[in-house]
Amino acid sequence: MIRFENVSVTYEGAAEPTVRGVDLEVPEGELVLLVGPSGVGKSTVLGAVGGLVPHFTGGTLAGRVTVAGRDTRTHEPRELADVVGTVGQDPLSHFVTDTVEDELAYGMESLGLPPEVMRRRVEETLDLLGLAGLRGRPLAGLSGGQQQRVAIGSVLTPHPRVLVLDEPTSALDPAAAEEVLAVIQRLVHDLGTTVLMAEHRLERVVQYADRVALLPGAGAALVVGTPAEVMAVSPVYPPVVGLGRLAGWSPPPLTVRDARRRAGHLRERLDGLDGGRSGQAAAGAAVPAPAPSADALSTA
Ligand code: ADP
Ligand code: MG
Repeated sequence: MIRFENVSVTYEGAAEPTVRGVDLEVPEGELVLLVGPSGVGKSTVLGAVGGLVPHFTGGTLAGRVTVAGRDTRTHEPRELADVVGTVGQDPLSHFVTDTVEDELAYGMESLGLPPEVMRRRVEETLDLLGLAGLRGRPLAGLSGGQQQRVAIGSVLTPHPRVLVLDEPTSALDPAAAEEVLAVIQRLVHDLGTTVLMAEHRLERVVQYADRVALLPGAGAALVVGTPAEVMAVSPVYPPVVGLGRLAGWSPPPLTVRDARRRAGHLRERLDGLDGGRSGQAAAGAAVPAPAPSADALSTA
């Protein structure tokens, strides 16, 4: 559904490509998480899916990106809006109208749909995203989670088969993030939407991914695998993965629940080693004092 073939992007004035030789295929209906340290080019890769890179950002793109068979070199972003919707971290910067209903309708304006089709799609989207009670509300007065749901809704009304999400929950508190992630999962499970998502807060999303694509460093080749495979080698990982790595668990746990289940065996093993100090040792093992990287801590 999304295909990158040997894609490199060089921004104007840059001596080197920001991303180099990216090969990636996201099959229809999959949720793929794009991870990597800050500044490695995640947003650049995501922007290339909808053609924002390089059409809006400038720079040059070598290689080929196709979405649902359409080459982004020959299709402008607005000619891709019916196949790919792109949502960023800051919904307010995304909005062009003042109310929920207007914002949902706006996404369809360039498609030339009959008014009754537009009205029906606004209704569907209000229901799908749990926004029906907010339809007339000013966007500025909504909570962060509500705003992000409207931003997602506004790119869904053209019925895209692909959704690109650039850190959709990074700016949200945990409850708002949960609202937004529930919506994303519903789209993947119920509508078969293909999702490519970057998220700084890996502990919120890694367990939902079908596969993870890692950009380990600037210009480095992409590493693609199952969430556990990639988390075992990634320089960025959620705290629970850091704990699993310290404990020598392979593959590392992806959720706190997973870690808790395995911690039982660890506790037994430590008890067997030394009855007197076991309590202390087990506590030390389960709650490592220095987390292995600043990045893992910052996602805590
Ligand atoms: P990430 O999302 O992984 O943090 P980005 O794709 O945003 O990484 O940025 C990768 C690099 O490309 C950074 O060094 C950034 O400064 C540069 N960059 C990003 N967007 C542009 C742009 N529109 N013009 C020039 N340089 C850019
Ligand atoms: Mg980014």
